[in-house]
Amino acid sequence: MDATSSLGTCPRCARPRTATDARGLAWSSEHLADGTVVHTCGDCTREQLWHIEALLAPEPAAAPAPARAA
Ligand SMILES: [Zn+2]
Repeated sequence: MDATSSLGTCPRCARPRTATDARGLAWSSEHLADGTVVHTCGDCTREQLWHIEALLAPEPAAAPAPARAA
């Protein structure tokens, strides 16, 4: 049985989720309407939170996020 197969990958950047990631707190889990649980890596979680906060802010920042190639 491959333990890594059940850990999945990040739906946003396709980064494989390791056992270390599963034990850590960086990755976030999300329960979809169809019952599927997806795990998003720390980097994408931070990015998502940034967007959520930007959307919830009464006055969203006008400046676009700088695109930084990794
Ligand atoms: Zn990711």
